[in-house]
Amino acid sequence: MNDHERRARTEALFRDVNERIAESAERFDADRTEFVCECSDPSCTHRVTVTLAEYEEVRAEPSTFLVTPGHEQEDIERVISDRGRFRIVDKVQQAVRRTVVRLDPRQGAAPSGG
Ligand SMILES: [Zn+2]
Repeated sequence: MNDHERRARTEALFRDVNERIAESAERFDADRTEFVCECSDPSCTHRVTVTLAEYEEVRAEPSTFLVTPGHEQEDIERVISDRGRFRIVDKVQQAVRRTVVRLDPRQGAAPSGG
C-alpha cells in the first residue's frame, strides 16, 4: 500500500466513525454534535462541533471531508469552504480521490470490482 492509499484509507475510516456519530445524533434529535476530524493523520484526536445540516452538506459529495482548521494536507486536497470551527476539503490528488470515492459508505454497492 503506498502513502496516498494509506492516507485515503485513514480518512475513509474517520468518515465511517462520523457516519455512526451522525446516526446516533439523529436518533437523539440533536441538531449539532461533535464529529472527529477527518484528516489523514491516524493519531489525530481532534473533535469539531458541526451541525447535522452542515455534516450532510459535507457528505453530499463522496470526495469531500471535514477537518480541523490547519489539518488540511495541501498535497492531496484543497479547502473549498472555511466555516471557522472546521473546514471542508475536496480530495484533488487522483489516487486519494479514487480511493475515498470507492470507500464511500453512501455510494452503495459498486457495480463491479470485488
Ligand atoms: Zn486532524
